[in-house]
Amino acid sequence: MSLEERTIEPLGDHCEVCGTQLTQAELEDILQTGGPVLCAIHADDLVEDEDEDEDGPA
Ligand SMILES: [Zn+2]
Repeated sequence: MSLEERTIEPLGDHCEVCGTQLTQAELEDILQTGGPVLCAIHADDLVEDEDEDEDGPA
C-alpha cells in the first residue's frame, strides 16, 4: 500500500471514445457511477438494452 495521498484523480473531462467535451451533468454521472469517462452517447452504448419496448432494427 502506498502512503502517497491521492487527491481527486484527474478524471478526464473528455469522452475516451470520441473525445468530446463532457457536460457537467455527464461528469457528475461518471463520478457517481465511477464508470469510464464517456459521453452520454458512448456511455449509453455500454448499457445493453434492457427494455426492448421499441421495435428492434428492422
Ligand atoms: Zn463519446
